[in-house]
Amino acid sequence: MDEIALLKKLISLDSQCTKSNRAIAFFIASLFPKKNCLITKLKKGDLDLYNVTVKFTGKNSSHPLIFSGHTDTVPLTNHWTTNPFKGNVKKGNIFGLGASDMKAGLASIISAALSIKETPNQDIYFLFDADEEDACTGGQAFLKTIKIKNRAAQIIIAEPTDGCLIIGQKGAMDMRVSFTGQALHSSKTSGSKNKKFNAIYKAAAAINALQKLELKWEKKSNQLFGAPTQAVCQINGGVASNVIPDSCQISINRRFLPKENPKKILEQLQKIIHKIDPLAKVTARFIGESNLLDTRSLIFQKAQDTGWKILRKKKVIVAPYWTQAGNFKRWGDCLIWGPGKIKMAHRANEYCPLKQVRQMTLCYKNLIKQLT
Ligand SMILES: [Zn+2]
Repeated sequence: MDEIALLKKLISLDSQCTKSNRAIAFFIASLFPKKNCLITKLKKGDLDLYNVTVKFTGKNSSHPLIFSGHTDTVPLTNHWTTNPFKGNVKKGNIFGLGASDMKAGLASIISAALSIKETPNQDIYFLFDADEEDACTGGQAFLKTIKIKNRAAQIIIAEPTDGCLIIGQKGAMDMRVSFTGQALHSSKTSGSKNKKFNAIYKAAAAINALQKLELKWEKKSNQLFGAPTQAVCQINGGVASNVIPDSCQISINRRFLPKENPKKILEQLQKIIHKIDPLAKVTARFIGESNLLDTRSLIFQKAQDTGWKILRKKKVIVAPYWTQAGNFKRWGDCLIWGPGKIKMAHRANEYCPLKQVRQMTLCYKNLIKQLT
């Protein structure tokens, strides 16, 4: 099966992150000899999820090469005008849910893996994780099971980059703030009672304070990454239109620069919120690290040479989104580099140019030869 037939098959396997990824995980595993392959079952609530590790043991384990790809897609939206599981091809583009994000990347790294016939000089891993589009259960599980010493690995995250080299990403944090007040009949309230007891008013004051901070950041832009960003994305409070609300929760999504420390970010947020309501509870639900790859690193140099030869592309950028590079950077240098259109991710009628899938497969094969 070539990389295009493989991509079509992967698209046909529904792996929305709201469901189990069993079918796609077992299909990927079935392509490799049992001795190279490990399927790990994970639990997320009632869902059975599966990580797949494919390993080619090398003559050395000192500088492993790792390819990473997530098996899940975002949930299907209503606006598709073509079958999202069929892999229809039109004008050189293949359409399907996850075509760009990131079944194209999976097809290319699997094809590269299947081309390995001899014992490589270094260990090569292909890590297929579950649940990246939701709670990152699979990526977190890999951190516990794969043992790599001394940040010695070289890692390719095969997310869609249009073949451009992505050397960095902002970090991402999801924070939850709970305000508590005191319920009373709405006819009995006053301006000062609202300030003291109304949980929604406390949340509103906090949102105002956060917005001042956001406007300040906008003026201080980092050359590579732009400004840090933050947004209140959810609000929930009150039980009836005639009861002063005694609770209100907001969730805040924060994107931070590599030089910022997530622990300090949380402390700063707590300080701002506690000035308004000392009893508010501020917690982090998800912290995803940022990443910045040194362009003097071997993996970057080799990838840039290869990319120029095969794709005629040299463009170096940073990602506006978060990837597993935030997790896997503890093993070594991470480069985000893969087939697929960034702008197509998480959209109806998602597609990927077939040419990119063929070219990136060649790039990965080439990189394996040079680095292992
Ligand atoms: Zn993705």
